[in-house]
Amino acid sequence: MKTDVLISGGGIGGLTLALKLARCGIDVTVIERLPGPSPVYKGELLQPKSLDIFDSLGVIEPVLSHGHRIAELELVELKGKRAEHSSMSYSILPGKYPYSLMIHHEKLKDILRAKGEEYSSFHYMGNTACKKISGKTVTVEDRSEKEPFDIECEFIIGAEGRSSVTRDYMGIEVSERKYNHHFLTVTFPRPLDMTKGRIVSTYQSFLGLFPLPNEEVRSVYLIPAGEYKSLRKKPISEFHKLYIDLCPDLEGYVDQITEWKQIQLMVPMKYHADTYVKDHLALIGDAAHTVHPMAGEGMNMAIQDGSVLGELLCDMYASGRLDPANLEWYPKVRKRRVSHQLHLSHLSALAYSYPYRPVGWLRNKSLQRMEKDRVSQFKQMLNISGLGMWRETLYDRMVQGGLFPLRKSFLSNEEKLGASFTEEQDYPWKEKEELI
Ligand SMILES: Cc1cc2nc3c(=O)[nH]c(=O)nc-3n(C[C@H](O)[C@H](O)[C@H](O)COP(=O)(O)OP(=O)(O)OC[C@H]3O[C@@H](n4cnc5c(N)ncnc54)[C@H](O)[C@@H]3O)c2cc1C
Repeated sequence: MKTDVLISGGGIGGLTLALKLARCGIDVTVIERLPGPSPVYKGELLQPKSLDIFDSLGVIEPVLSHGHRIAELELVELKGKRAEHSSMSYSILPGKYPYSLMIHHEKLKDILRAKGEEYSSFHYMGNTACKKISGKTVTVEDRSEKEPFDIECEFIIGAEGRSSVTRDYMGIEVSERKYNHHFLTVTFPRPLDMTKGRIVSTYQSFLGLFPLPNEEVRSVYLIPAGEYKSLRKKPISEFHKLYIDLCPDLEGYVDQITEWKQIQLMVPMKYHADTYVKDHLALIGDAAHTVHPMAGEGMNMAIQDGSVLGELLCDMYASGRLDPANLEWYPKVRKRRVSHQLHLSHLSALAYSYPYRPVGWLRNKSLQRMEKDRVSQFKQMLNISGLGMWRETLYDRMVQGGLFPLRKSFLSNEEKLGASFTEEQDYPWKEKEELI
């Protein structure tokens, strides 16, 4: 069997890339080892840049209609019976989609796959695992027949998530950074009026609530690393109590979780491969980098990788310039952006990691000042949205810490748009006509 581009892994990253290539008429084959939907929770929050990308791929309508829009995040810090509120708003951002969107992970995969199947050059092989790579030959195994067979291709993309056969073949090692905490994560019915994202914390606890469509809410609750086993030995009512103590509105809702086995343990980690490309092979998404989930970036980074690499491959095929050296444009665009998002998510993780009152106090103060200081809020939302990258300066940190006064200035729409990535920054090889 032959194909132009073989993608190992049919997660969100692999499917985004495959759809992009199929739309350009490139023959693309996705190999996915799972036979059907995965029961495992994964990323469900789409940032504005991902919505722009899905718009360009012709799937924005089904994505929006199966998602729940979140324009604002409410941040509640509890101090005994007192609650201090702040908020961060996507509406400060320019562009067509000034909000994020919660969508069931498997639903999003269905939408991308269904769109792909409209193109004759799109091939999807479920229940089939990539076993071995040798030059431009990939040995795959249909898991029901246990019969390995070879696929010949021009380019191989590793999109297998955290444990990547392609990354191993490329000889790329990643060093994992672990955290002092884990998360419990589960979806359950929500009160109808819970429509905004909400983070409730005390100096020693954290609960994130992200509304999904169909009156459900995805939750993440922070626990110290290693505590999961002892928690599971307790009655499930102990789990309900952890949630209701932080958010009494959940009484009558979280109690609909009846068994610990419905709740998944999520172990956050962070790594970043030194390089994403070697000869005719490239890595995207979690195969190349994994991010702490605090800022909801993992799935979005995979989508953004797929979009940039997809555009590059489309241009290479359109111009007939298939030298693998051209692939280097992809990490040139993506690596710096990924590093910045890894760093921001890491800082957010640290802000909630240490159960000491001064840390909680400083976090709450910074968040309240960030809400009032429009420049700080804009930078924060721009960075997590994926629409642009505007590094925070020492001055910004001083303002947020209360050492310098809040800025009265507002950013004009032109200034905001000027901070967003341009087409030339997203796809620099186009302007320079440097494909070889
Ligand atoms: C358990 C878990 C929970 C998560 N929860 C959150 C969250 O709450 N919020 C958040 O922002 N992010 C979360 N993430 C991260 C986010 O889901 C990922 O960043 C995102 O899914 C990455 O997309 P991807 O396409 O790169 O990889 P994946 O989504 O991991 O997809 C990889 C695909 O490749 C397939 N595959 C693997 N090996 C092979 C092989 N040899 N041959 C063929 N197919 C193969 C897998 O079956 C899988 O379908 C979570 C990740 C994990 C692992």
